[in-house]
Amino acid sequence: MTRSNHAKAAIQRLEGLRRAGVTHLPKPGKRPSPPPVAASQATTTDPRQSALAAVAREVADCARCAELARTRTQTVFGAGNPYARLVFCGEAPGADEDRVGQPFVGRAGGLLTDIIVKGMKMRREDVYILNILRCRPPGNRNPLPIEAANCREYLDRQLEIIRPEFICCLGAVAAQNLLDTTASIGRLRGKVHDYRGIRVVCTYHPAYLLRNPSAKRQTWEDIQLLIEEMKKEGKGRIDQGKGLKMGLFN
Ligand code: SF4
Repeated sequence: MTRSNHAKAAIQRLEGLRRAGVTHLPKPGKRPSPPPVAASQATTTDPRQSALAAVAREVADCARCAELARTRTQTVFGAGNPYARLVFCGEAPGADEDRVGQPFVGRAGGLLTDIIVKGMKMRREDVYILNILRCRPPGNRNPLPIEAANCREYLDRQLEIIRPEFICCLGAVAAQNLLDTTASIGRLRGKVHDYRGIRVVCTYHPAYLLRNPSAKRQTWEDIQLLIEEMKKEGKGRIDQGKGLKMGLFN
């Protein structure tokens, strides 16, 4: 490994720890520094946070998809509340996410935040956000089936740790991969599906909505369906959103 590759790997590992909730590492001094795992355990006592941090460390070093591992700036593990009732699942990091190391930033991320905050009356930190892939495909191409299969273990482990009651799939790639179907997003939306006992609602990707604003009305219908399902349980912080009146989905 070259010096630049060593540096890149070290930066990716630190980014993975930061995203997993590790906020401090010991300063280097006369005493030897403990390894990152010990630092993580020292600053993260929550069991789910610790479990996610362990998976994030594996992901930061993952090279199962040779092309993606070579071209990524860093992995994008996921972010949010480890105890979230609701997980949003997109397809893969884009250029902004690859640069920042967080899922759904940039304009599409801003629209997703509006859906959560203005439409669902929740906070972004109440939910968990992840993708089918944890590395950016070059040129933002769609994930290859082998890449989705390679990364599936991490997705399932994150879901097993978080144990959400609901997943909202954003776009056809997320919905088709999670539900293992070739059906179009038009056929998948508007219904409640099941994935390992988790109720799944599918809707359009925010990036698609930016290009096709007329589809926002259907997304609002899907979000209302999701809200109604969450309200059935009667323990969420869901109030009926006023998305249409607020102009969010116009
Ligand atoms: S996309 Fe997933 S499986 Fe592929 S290299 Fe990245 S972390 Fe590993």
